Amino acid sequence: MNFGIVYFSLGSNLGGRERNIASAIEEISTHIGRVNKISSMFESEPIGDKSHPWYLNCCISAFSGLTPNRIMQKCQEIEMKLGRVRGDAKWAPRTIDIDIIFYGDKVVSTPILTVPHPEAHKRLFVLMPMAELAPDFTHPKLRKSVWQLLNECPDTSIVSRPSHSEVNAKAGCHHQADAAL
Ligand code: ATP
Ligand code: CA
Ligand code: CA
Repeated sequence: MNFGIVYFSLGSNLGGRERNIASAIEEISTHIGRVNKISSMFESEPIGDKSHPWYLNCCISAFSGLTPNRIMQKCQEIEMKLGRVRGDAKWAPRTIDIDIIFYGDKVVSTPILTVPHPEAHKRLFVLMPMAELAPDFTHPKLRKSVWQLLNECPDTSIVSRPSHSEVNAKAGCHHQADAAL
């Protein structure tokens, strides 16, 4: 089986946000593949309706032998297990959102899955944690590094590292073995 590196963006703005993200990481390591790196947690303002609760976001990398479609299926199963209720509203508050940002240099474009994630390069809450994990990683379609995309990103939304977050007690990203999760 060929193992590739997958980058995920995780977000939560309902319930115990840190706990939801920690549980998602645990589930990803059990059902998708070995988790390699975990970024700091970032707090970000919601997309769309500004009255919604703020998000806690991070990015992680994992090694997986699963196909992109299978990974997305697993992500949706994990979201449901962690209490995400899918309604009609776009960007509604959720216990957990798991997006596939990159899967190595794979490019996938189907009605149900787009990799790289089509909004990734427009979002600070994705690029800031990604820049901790893999600043030199090249976006396979845009042919620019994560660092370059971050520097060119026009997003003006507020994204910060919350100092109160226990998971940020250790600054910067860390390998799974060191994770205080
Ligand atoms: P956004 O995609 O703008 O971040 P969202 O995460 O709130 O919005 P969801 O309701 O979680 O959107 O997902 C909508 C659909 O996006 C999913 O049913 C899935 O089929 C599709 N999708 C396409 N590409 C991806 C990807 N790279 N990662 C996760 N889901 C994806
Ligand atoms: Ca999303
Ligand atoms: Ca999603």
